[in-house]
Amino acid sequence: MDKTLHIVGGGMAGSEAAWQAANMGVQVILHEMRPKVETFAHQTGDLAEMVCSNSFRSDDDEQNAVGLLHWEMRAANGLIMNMADRHRLPAGGALAVDREAFAQSVTARLRTHPTIRIENSEITTLPEDGHWVFATGPLTSEKLGTAIANETGTDRLAFFDAIAPIVYFDSIDMSRAWMQSRYDKGETEEERTAYLNCPMDRDQYEAFIDALLAADKTEFHEGETATYFDGCLPIEVMAERGRETLRHGPMKPVGLTNPHSPDEKPHAVVQLRRDNALGTLYNIVGFQTKMKYGAQNNVFKKIPGLEKASFARLGGIHRNTFLNAPTLLDNQMRLRSRPNIRFAGQITGVEGYVESAAMGLLAGRLAAAEMRGHPLPDIPQDSAMGALIHHITGGAEAKTFQPMNVNFGLFRPVDGLKGGRRGRRDRYKAYTDRAKAAWTEWLTKSQLDATASV
Ligand SMILES: Cc1cc2nc3c(=O)[nH]c(=O)nc-3n(C[C@H](O)[C@H](O)[C@H](O)COP(=O)(O)OP(=O)(O)OC[C@H]3O[C@@H](n4cnc5c(N)ncnc54)[C@H](O)[C@@H]3O)c2cc1C
Repeated sequence: MDKTLHIVGGGMAGSEAAWQAANMGVQVILHEMRPKVETFAHQTGDLAEMVCSNSFRSDDDEQNAVGLLHWEMRAANGLIMNMADRHRLPAGGALAVDREAFAQSVTARLRTHPTIRIENSEITTLPEDGHWVFATGPLTSEKLGTAIANETGTDRLAFFDAIAPIVYFDSIDMSRAWMQSRYDKGETEEERTAYLNCPMDRDQYEAFIDALLAADKTEFHEGETATYFDGCLPIEVMAERGRETLRHGPMKPVGLTNPHSPDEKPHAVVQLRRDNALGTLYNIVGFQTKMKYGAQNNVFKKIPGLEKASFARLGGIHRNTFLNAPTLLDNQMRLRSRPNIRFAGQITGVEGYVESAAMGLLAGRLAAAEMRGHPLPDIPQDSAMGALIHHITGGAEAKTFQPMNVNFGLFRPVDGLKGGRRGRRDRYKAYTDRAKAAWTEWLTKSQLDATASV
């Protein structure tokens, strides 16, 4: 049997996957197409190039889910975190790095690793045999994108994300909002109350449209094609087409009765839909946007019921190749239809440098363990790694699946703790304590399993 692990793509995920697998005693060939084939965003031939910001975001491992992911990767001897720490720049509570020194040191570490070989070549097919991890990222080359779409079906591989903002349920003011599906449609009570509705009167609607039209927007990056499909137009573009367009589209007020004020017909209604099985996250339906983050925060808080909303993630539209992971991948990140192939990184439907590296870490370990004949135990759902992998491979709604950052809304609640803003500090500390214990236990257990197989 071929005992080489092929990893395609030497970005955040592929670099981490190669490091982890090689350290578990597996021979790795890392296929990276740059600098022979370029993308519109990368500038160098280095591995783990940061294409935009030089920040790995918050490094607070007690009160922040990204900081917790840093902690878990450090505990697992992660290369990306190790090199980021080494090339850290002052940035308050964030982990910012000297991007060139960082990428060069990741590249050097992988080049000099005795069981890793780097090949600068573009892979354009999904191989039938051997062990493979595809970590080709948001800018997966066109030929490979076509090959993946041929395997998955074009409806299950997206080339753009169209992300509507996601709100923490416990930050929504339910004295203004209510749960109801349009025309009370549905067989069960759960279906009849599947949507969360925020009503607007005429003045509120007009003020909202003014704010949308005036808001700062981001432009597409050079090389990205700004072709929207009519089904996922940014809301500000809809508003530009006419002040009433939204009232006839995602904000139409029909089929809904506000129980807080049953005699008053709302002029418009913003609907939110559950985004995860836990019911801790809700997305604002049809509200994909190119507004800048600061502007989104101001504009969306004008929606009645969302005045104090906390956002698990803000909206966006970007060039982004990603799978419908909940239907395509199993909980070991294998393609269900071709289990010799794993995916890792942003293409699995996570978003961001840290999340992508984290999914690379898992894929590298899972693949190496399987090749050595001792598959790893399931990733604990209470760790940040586990919360993320569980979301993309099953917890997320497959029909509306869009890329996700790590956030505490993905975590199972801790019993007996206060909800709402007041209890937040204690709740986050409880999540991070529980996660660290679960992750440490898993690492110990997987090491024992690995040792047992030597
Ligand atoms: C324009 C842009 C700006 C972004 N800004 C940020 C930001 O500020 N902060 C943030 O956290 N995230 C940002 N992201 C997201 C970020 O790119 C990802 O989170 C992260 O880099 C993904 O890691 P990855 O390893 O999955 O993919 P990448 O880091 O992109 O790595 C994929 C690698 O695969 C290679 N590759 C592609 N196709 C093939 C092939 N067929 N054969 C061989 N190699 C191939 C590519 O050359 C690349 O090196 C941005 C993305 C884009 C596109």
